[in-house]
Amino acid sequence: MPLTHRPLRLGLLENNTYLIVCPATREAAIVDVGFDAEAAIEAAREAGVHLRYLLNTHAHYDHVAGMRTVQEALGGDYYLHPADRPLLEHLFEQGAMFGFPQATAPAVVHDLAHGQRLPLGEEALEVIHTPGHSPGGVCFRWGEWLWVGDTLFAGSVGRTDLPGGSFEQLERSIRERLFPLGDDLLAFPGHGPSTTLGRERRDNPFVGEGAGRA
Ligand SMILES: [Zn+2]
Ligand SMILES: [Zn+2]
Repeated sequence: MPLTHRPLRLGLLENNTYLIVCPATREAAIVDVGFDAEAAIEAAREAGVHLRYLLNTHAHYDHVAGMRTVQEALGGDYYLHPADRPLLEHLFEQGAMFGFPQATAPAVVHDLAHGQRLPLGEEALEVIHTPGHSPGGVCFRWGEWLWVGDTLFAGSVGRTDLPGGSFEQLERSIRERLFPLGDDLLAFPGHGPSTTLGRERRDNPFVGEGAGRA
Protein backbone atom coordinates (compact mmCIF):
# COMPACT_ATOMS: atom_id res chain seq x y z
CA MET A 1 0.00 0.00 0.00
CA PRO A 2 1.48 3.40 -0.97
CA LEU A 3 2.61 5.86 1.66
CA THR A 4 0.57 8.98 2.29
CA HIS A 5 1.72 12.27 3.68
CA ARG A 6 0.16 15.25 5.32
CA PRO A 7 1.85 18.63 4.96
CA LEU A 8 1.40 21.10 7.82
CA ARG A 9 2.41 24.71 7.41
CA LEU A 10 3.55 25.87 10.84
CA GLY A 11 5.02 28.99 12.39
CA LEU A 12 5.97 32.46 11.26
CA LEU A 13 8.50 31.29 8.65
CA GLU A 14 5.80 29.07 7.14
CA ASN A 15 7.81 25.92 7.65
CA ASN A 16 6.44 22.78 6.08
CA THR A 17 6.29 19.83 8.45
CA TYR A 18 5.44 16.52 6.79
CA LEU A 19 3.81 13.55 8.46
CA ILE A 20 4.56 10.50 6.29
CA VAL A 21 2.43 7.46 6.98
CA CYS A 22 2.31 3.82 5.90
CA PRO A 23 -1.47 3.32 5.96
CA ALA A 24 -1.18 -0.47 6.13
CA THR A 25 0.78 -0.50 9.39
CA ARG A 26 0.10 3.04 10.77
CA GLU A 27 3.83 3.50 11.13
CA ALA A 28 4.89 7.11 10.55
CA ALA A 29 7.81 9.49 10.15
CA ILE A 30 7.70 13.20 10.80
CA VAL A 31 10.01 15.47 8.82
CA ASP A 32 11.20 18.83 10.26
CA VAL A 33 9.28 20.27 13.19
CA GLY A 34 10.38 23.82 13.93
CA PHE A 35 7.55 25.86 15.32
CA ASP A 36 4.21 24.80 16.78
CA ALA A 37 5.16 21.31 17.90
CA GLU A 38 1.72 21.02 19.52
CA ALA A 39 0.01 21.19 16.13
CA ALA A 40 2.33 18.48 14.81
CA ILE A 41 1.59 16.27 17.84
CA GLU A 42 -2.13 16.85 17.37
CA ALA A 43 -1.94 15.87 13.68
CA ALA A 44 -0.07 12.65 14.50
CA ARG A 45 -2.57 11.76 17.25
CA GLU A 46 -5.49 12.49 14.95
CA ALA A 47 -3.98 10.24 12.30
CA GLY A 48 -3.67 7.48 14.88
CA VAL A 49 -0.09 6.64 13.94
CA HIS A 50 2.88 5.10 15.68
CA LEU A 51 5.75 7.54 15.24
CA ARG A 52 8.87 5.58 14.36
CA TYR A 53 11.15 8.36 13.10
CA LEU A 54 11.77 12.06 13.63
CA LEU A 55 13.77 13.04 10.56
CA ASN A 56 15.61 16.30 9.95
CA THR A 57 16.50 17.43 6.44
CA HIS A 58 19.02 19.71 8.19
CA ALA A 59 19.65 21.31 11.55
CA HIS A 60 18.54 24.92 11.15
CA TYR A 61 16.53 26.17 14.10
CA ASP A 62 13.29 26.53 12.15
CA HIS A 63 13.38 22.81 11.27
CA VAL A 64 14.64 21.41 14.60
CA ALA A 65 13.26 23.47 17.46
CA GLY A 66 10.06 21.43 17.93
CA MET A 67 11.54 17.96 17.46
CA ARG A 68 12.21 17.23 21.12
CA THR A 69 8.71 18.24 22.21
CA VAL A 70 7.23 15.91 19.58
CA GLN A 71 9.56 13.11 20.64
CA GLU A 72 8.66 13.53 24.32
CA ALA A 73 4.95 13.31 23.46
CA LEU A 74 5.03 10.54 20.86
CA GLY A 75 8.38 8.74 21.03
CA GLY A 76 10.34 7.78 17.92
CA ASP A 77 14.03 7.90 17.01
CA TYR A 78 15.67 11.13 15.92
CA TYR A 79 17.89 11.18 12.79
CA LEU A 80 20.23 13.82 11.33
CA HIS A 81 23.20 13.76 8.95
CA PRO A 82 26.39 13.97 11.07
CA ALA A 83 27.74 16.94 9.06
CA ASP A 84 24.95 19.04 10.62
CA ARG A 85 25.77 18.10 14.22
CA PRO A 86 27.69 21.35 14.80
CA LEU A 87 24.52 23.27 13.87
CA LEU A 88 22.49 21.12 16.24
CA GLU A 89 24.97 21.78 19.03
CA HIS A 90 24.50 25.51 18.45
CA LEU A 91 20.72 25.46 18.45
CA PHE A 92 20.63 28.02 21.23
CA GLU A 93 22.87 30.47 19.33
CA GLN A 94 20.91 29.89 16.13
CA GLY A 95 17.67 30.80 17.92
CA ALA A 96 19.22 33.81 19.63
CA MET A 97 20.51 35.10 16.29
CA PHE A 98 16.95 35.36 15.00
CA GLY A 99 15.30 36.22 18.34
CA PHE A 100 13.58 32.86 18.76
CA PRO A 101 12.95 31.18 22.14
CA GLN A 102 15.45 28.70 23.52
CA ALA A 103 15.04 25.15 22.22
CA THR A 104 16.60 21.84 23.22
CA ALA A 105 17.67 19.25 20.68
CA PRO A 106 16.65 15.60 21.01
CA ALA A 107 19.04 13.85 23.41
CA VAL A 108 19.99 10.88 21.23
CA VAL A 109 20.98 11.58 17.63
CA HIS A 110 21.09 8.77 15.06
CA ASP A 111 23.17 9.32 11.93
CA LEU A 112 21.82 9.50 8.41
CA ALA A 113 24.05 8.47 5.50
CA HIS A 114 23.80 8.87 1.73
CA GLY A 115 22.04 5.84 0.26
CA GLN A 116 20.68 4.65 3.60
CA ARG A 117 17.22 3.10 3.60
CA LEU A 118 14.84 3.69 6.46
CA PRO A 119 12.15 1.02 6.54
CA LEU A 120 8.75 2.56 7.17
CA GLY A 121 5.92 0.06 7.49
CA GLU A 122 5.76 -1.84 4.20
CA GLU A 123 7.88 0.75 2.38
CA ALA A 124 11.19 2.54 2.90
CA LEU A 125 12.56 6.06 2.64
CA GLU A 126 15.91 6.56 0.93
CA VAL A 127 18.39 9.17 2.15
CA ILE A 128 20.10 11.43 -0.40
CA HIS A 129 22.89 13.66 0.92
CA THR A 130 22.56 17.10 -0.72
CA PRO A 131 24.99 19.50 1.00
CA GLY A 132 25.05 23.18 0.10
CA HIS A 133 22.37 24.94 2.11
CA SER A 134 24.07 23.28 5.09
CA PRO A 135 26.84 20.64 5.18
CA GLY A 136 24.54 17.85 6.35
CA GLY A 137 21.49 18.66 4.26
CA VAL A 138 19.60 15.59 3.02
CA CYS A 139 16.52 14.76 0.99
CA PHE A 140 14.26 11.79 1.63
CA ARG A 141 12.87 9.82 -1.29
CA TRP A 142 10.05 7.37 -1.66
CA GLY A 143 9.22 6.43 -5.26
CA GLU A 144 8.23 9.59 -7.08
CA TRP A 145 8.15 11.69 -3.93
CA LEU A 146 11.03 13.69 -2.60
CA TRP A 147 11.13 15.73 0.60
CA VAL A 148 13.85 18.28 -0.07
CA GLY A 149 14.07 20.54 2.98
CA ASP A 150 15.72 23.85 2.08
CA THR A 151 17.86 22.38 -0.72
CA LEU A 152 15.35 23.27 -3.44
CA PHE A 153 12.26 25.48 -3.57
CA ALA A 154 9.70 26.13 -6.28
CA GLY A 155 11.54 28.72 -8.36
CA SER A 156 14.39 29.12 -5.90
CA VAL A 157 17.03 27.38 -3.76
CA GLY A 158 17.99 27.55 -0.10
CA ARG A 159 20.25 30.40 1.00
CA THR A 160 23.94 29.58 1.15
CA ASP A 161 25.19 32.52 3.21
CA LEU A 162 24.71 30.84 6.61
CA PRO A 163 27.59 29.00 8.37
CA GLY A 164 28.67 25.96 6.34
CA GLY A 165 26.68 26.97 3.27
CA SER A 166 28.13 26.79 -0.26
CA PHE A 167 26.36 27.65 -3.49
CA GLU A 168 28.78 25.58 -5.60
CA GLN A 169 28.02 22.57 -3.44
CA LEU A 170 24.28 23.20 -3.55
CA GLU A 171 24.33 23.49 -7.32
CA ARG A 172 26.23 20.20 -7.61
CA SER A 173 23.88 18.44 -5.18
CA ILE A 174 20.80 19.50 -7.12
CA ARG A 175 22.22 18.91 -10.61
CA GLU A 176 24.03 15.66 -9.88
CA ARG A 177 21.89 14.02 -7.23
CA LEU A 178 18.34 15.33 -7.72
CA PHE A 179 17.72 16.20 -11.38
CA PRO A 180 18.94 12.80 -12.67
CA LEU A 181 16.17 11.14 -10.62
CA GLY A 182 13.70 12.24 -13.28
CA ASP A 183 11.43 15.10 -14.26
CA ASP A 184 8.31 13.55 -12.81
CA LEU A 185 9.44 13.50 -9.23
CA LEU A 186 7.40 15.66 -6.90
CA ALA A 187 9.52 17.80 -4.60
CA PHE A 188 8.16 18.89 -1.22
CA PRO A 189 10.27 21.74 0.18
CA GLY A 190 10.78 23.00 3.71
CA HIS A 191 9.06 26.27 2.81
CA GLY A 192 6.50 27.20 0.18
CA PRO A 193 4.62 25.15 -2.40
CA SER A 194 5.61 21.80 -3.89
CA THR A 195 7.06 21.54 -7.39
CA THR A 196 8.44 18.93 -9.81
CA LEU A 197 12.08 18.25 -10.63
CA GLY A 198 11.25 18.78 -14.31
CA ARG A 199 9.90 22.26 -13.74
CA GLU A 200 12.96 23.24 -11.70
CA ARG A 201 15.40 21.60 -14.12
CA ARG A 202 13.96 23.73 -16.91
CA ASP A 203 13.00 26.98 -15.22
CA ASN A 204 14.75 27.38 -11.87
CA PRO A 205 16.63 30.70 -12.12
CA PHE A 206 19.52 29.46 -9.92
CA VAL A 207 20.11 25.85 -10.97
CA GLY A 208 17.86 25.35 -14.03
CA GLU A 209 18.92 25.13 -17.66
CA GLY A 210 18.85 28.87 -18.17
CA ALA A 211 20.66 29.72 -14.94
CA GLY A 212 23.68 31.99 -15.26
CA ARG A 213 22.68 33.11 -18.75
CA ALA A 214 21.59 36.70 -18.36
ZN1 LIG B 1 17.51 25.94 6.44
ZN1 LIG C 1 14.17 26.68 6.62
